[in-house]
Amino acid sequence: MADRYLHFTGTATGRFLTRRIGLPQPAPLRRWSLETPALTGPVRHLTAGDSTVTEELGAVLAATGLEVRTDAERPATGTDVNASAERPAAGPASRTGTERPAALVLDATAVDTAAGLGAVHGALHPVVRSLAPGGRVVVLGVRPSPDDHHQAAAQQALEGFVRSLGKEIGKGSTAQLVRVVPGALSGAESTLRFLLSPRSAYISGQVIELTSAAPDPVDDWAAPLAGRTALVTGAARGIGASVASVLARDGAHVICLDVPQAREDLERTAARLGATALPLDITAADAAARITAAAPDGLDILVHNAGITRDRRLANMAADRWAPVIDVNLDSVLRTTDALLKTGTVNRGGRIVATASIAGIAGNNGQTNYAASKAGIIGLVRSLAPRAAADHGVTVNAVAPGFIETKMTAAVPLFIREAGRRMNSLSQGGLPVDVAETTAWFAQPASSAVNGQVVRVCGQSLLGA
Ligand code: NAD
Repeated sequence: MADRYLHFTGTATGRFLTRRIGLPQPAPLRRWSLETPALTGPVRHLTAGDSTVTEELGAVLAATGLEVRTDAERPATGTDVNASAERPAAGPASRTGTERPAALVLDATAVDTAAGLGAVHGALHPVVRSLAPGGRVVVLGVRPSPDDHHQAAAQQALEGFVRSLGKEIGKGSTAQLVRVVPGALSGAESTLRFLLSPRSAYISGQVIELTSAAPDPVDDWAAPLAGRTALVTGAARGIGASVASVLARDGAHVICLDVPQAREDLERTAARLGATALPLDITAADAAARITAAAPDGLDILVHNAGITRDRRLANMAADRWAPVIDVNLDSVLRTTDALLKTGTVNRGGRIVATASIAGIAGNNGQTNYAASKAGIIGLVRSLAPRAAADHGVTVNAVAPGFIETKMTAAVPLFIREAGRRMNSLSQGGLPVDVAETTAWFAQPASSAVNGQVVRVCGQSLLGA
């Protein structure tokens, strides 16, 4: 459904009126397209404190192909950062040298005291105003230490800092905190490529914690999923169809699964993508066996997207509204994941992506069943991820969409729908492609270090924040 308000505020009259009345001013988001696959403008590499990873981070940023400018105001520490400042990375040539940065990357990995937080302010305060519209701020930190409460306080402080910055920068810009493992920063490349690109347009205020796992090699970043087989449940329409489409764009062969009743839409979606259609109810007793039969060479990517709602307040909710929601959204995900891992259908190096929801984080009136199922997905991901990596070489992550413009949300009554759309830092709903791009980042071979994460695709919704 079209967001008419977003369109209205894009006109001169709309801008004038909404500013006068003090209404939200959503900026049109720049998403990935063939014409604009990357951010337009340089990335500034800033540092707070005496970082030990300056050179390592510089190499990863240079590998993204973006033009990187180092922190010229700050003297180099340890490594020759100025040398890389003189030598822009491969990518779009520097035009004027005074161009507004498209992204600010602040290395705050060395900040381990409350006083050290001053360097975070010192690095970003002078430049944040210069960030181009639709820009990105990525702060790099490390895991708060269980043994050093001063370090833990300083690193946890970055979370509040980034979440607040996400709420105030506006103009379609976003801010994230990525916790890295010094010495294992090559594992952060796929994440930085994603966050410093138009693909992450609707993600803000997120904390992503990486492991030290080494990335699997990528031959071609334009088709990182080439040669991979993916299965997407609930792929006939909505978010699932978009996930299938983005995975296919990135080179994967996709098996699109949906209920037999949706066969017509399913076959149309599959035909459009050169994919295989698998009409199957994911709650069927033989679902895992049928998936295994449909993927003789195994699966590299398994996306649990199918989901249903049967809303009622608990007092009015009969068991026949409770049980199917738990079965489709959670129990079938548990059953098929277990079976497909056990039979080895999910190949080593595989990626499992499940679909949670901000309802599973914040709760929702009339959705005790749905929110329980989606919170259950978060529990599944956090518990299984380390064991799946150790036992099968497989990562397990979840997307948690907020208000996404689909048929499901178009059916929501007008005023609730408007509130859902505007109550986030970007003042607009997301699109199915925003969830799909996040799934595709999780699915990349180079995303081995992204494991056990629940990333909200919600424009930094106020719900559950
Ligand atoms: P949708 O209703 O448009 O699509 C869901 C698809 O799942 C449908 O094609 C449906 O036929 C399929 N499906 C349902 N039961 C199935 C079963 N038993 N076996 C196989 N397929 C089945 O929904 P959507 O908006 O695209 O949502 C996709 C996922 O994202 C769901 O898990 C949903 O809970 C989640 N989500 C959506 C939003 C949103 O704003 N749209 C927000 C948060 C989470």
